[in-house]
Amino acid sequence: MSQSGFTPHDHSGCIAQTLGAAEALCAREGLQFTPLRRRVLEILLTGHKALGAYEILDRLGADGFSAKPPTAYRALEFLTAHGLAHKIERLNAYIACTHPGEAHNPAFLICTDCETVAETEAPAAVGPAAKAAGFKVKATTVEATGTCPACQAARP
Ligand SMILES: [Zn+2]
Ligand SMILES: [Zn+2]
Ligand SMILES: [Zn+2]
Repeated sequence: MSQSGFTPHDHSGCIAQTLGAAEALCAREGLQFTPLRRRVLEILLTGHKALGAYEILDRLGADGFSAKPPTAYRALEFLTAHGLAHKIERLNAYIACTHPGEAHNPAFLICTDCETVAETEAPAAVGPAAKAAGFKVKATTVEATGTCPACQAARP
């Protein structure tokens, strides 16, 4: 399990670990981890914050990649489809997955003060109810907003 964005840590370790896991996953599944896809994942790994497609696009443009919206959207589609990144619906933004390649049901803790997002495991709360209703769950979105420990401590 990777570090949470809510605790101080050596973030270069997060970047190296996640990129390594992404490379391994692509090699295993025969997926193309193109320079563009890799760069988008690196941009998402800048910090434990969710980034909108246009922020990503700005940084791609600065790096000399094509700064056309479909470029960013296609790379983000690839990353989310293969579990390397997740979309935070509430923020309409994206975040790098902290443990790609592992089957998991992510839940997100979103600090509304500093915009740090921590990924955690979602409780299978709707499971029994959905089953009782004969409903087949494809995905559950759990996004909690609140205040992270650092921001709570910073308040008088
Ligand atoms: Zn980190
Ligand atoms: Zn994840
Ligand atoms: Zn915070």
